[in-house]
Amino acid sequence: MKFTPWHLTWPVLLVAIAMLPASTHLSAQAGTELHAAAGTTPQTTAKPKAKPAKKLVKKKAKVPKGPPPTPAKVLFGAAKAPAPLAARAIGFYAKGCLAGAKAISVDGPTWQVMRLSRNRMWGHPSLIAQIERLSKDGKEHDGWPGLLVGDISQPRGGPMLTGHASHQIGLDADIWLTPMPDHRMSKREREDLSATSMLAEDRVSINPQVWTEAHARIILRAASYPQIERVLVHPAIKKALCENKSLPRTHLNKVRPYWGHHYHMHIRMACPKDSPGCTPQPVVGTEDSCGKEVDDWIARMKRIYAPRPPIPEPKIAVPKPKPKPKPEITLADLPAECRMVIGNTAPPGPSPFADVTKPDAAKPAGSKPDDDAENAEPAAPAMARKK
Ligand SMILES: [Zn+2]
Repeated sequence: MKFTPWHLTWPVLLVAIAMLPASTHLSAQAGTELHAAAGTTPQTTAKPKAKPAKKLVKKKAKVPKGPPPTPAKVLFGAAKAPAPLAARAIGFYAKGCLAGAKAISVDGPTWQVMRLSRNRMWGHPSLIAQIERLSKDGKEHDGWPGLLVGDISQPRGGPMLTGHASHQIGLDADIWLTPMPDHRMSKREREDLSATSMLAEDRVSINPQVWTEAHARIILRAASYPQIERVLVHPAIKKALCENKSLPRTHLNKVRPYWGHHYHMHIRMACPKDSPGCTPQPVVGTEDSCGKEVDDWIARMKRIYAPRPPIPEPKIAVPKPKPKPKPEITLADLPAECRMVIGNTAPPGPSPFADVTKPDAAKPAGSKPDDDAENAEPAAPAMARKK
């Protein structure tokens, strides 16, 4: 029998003990792989499973997003006839709609409607009556031969596909500063005739070749009616009215300086009594705003139109980030009543203006965007800059 002394077996035992943790770890790893292959996971490996579950939740959250709602201007721009409801202006001048609209006659004894293809000759009946009265009074008292009527509202009001931010509730109307010609114009002429700008070449003063006393009188006539809250004109026109001491100044406070409006005046009526859902604007003050306010407007315009030295081209073209487009007004943004206005079906029959094919006729040559921001109290330049 062979005898192994104790002192020789010790190193063998120590090596065996040192190897124990390593072999345990290896067996655990092998165990994981086996569970994975079998489609089961041991409890000790629960963490890796939690990650894919989180991703699934995120994907589900994106699913409910459907196509964006149709812009309200598409819905209202497509309406060819008024909503057969009682007449009322709904909402604000730049965010609303119109029920029971009335179209002004294309021809009247003292007016003619322009750009028939636009189908924007619809308004609250009280505004239509007001335009007719202005045309009659202007001819009788102001030496104004008759009105050329521009845009009023769409058959159901609302936002428009092109142009104006306001004109949505049937209480705004553009009246050209071109006197009515002495003949009935054809539909074609009404599309093609350009309105006359009242501005001189510097674009900040009146052109005395076209501006007359009759222009001043018809503007002040429009402002004289209690139902008319504002008459928007170019600051150069306001300045000319301020400087004319021969005319009554009683209603000059209602004639407000604003961008554009050098070839037409924009008349805005107060909310009618039959329209409780109409949101009024603040009433204009009694100040004629002939001093600092109009001078600030003119000064600002001079700065804008002043000739500038050419800007040197940068050596490396840096692409400018595109500004984010403004979110479209949708039906949900308008007063709830507008759903009923746009939802009501039009009475059958073709539009009387369907034979005019030119859609949304171009603006007169050389004209500027007229009243894109005409949706609030027209602010003085200094105030507007703060916004
Ligand atoms: Zn306008």
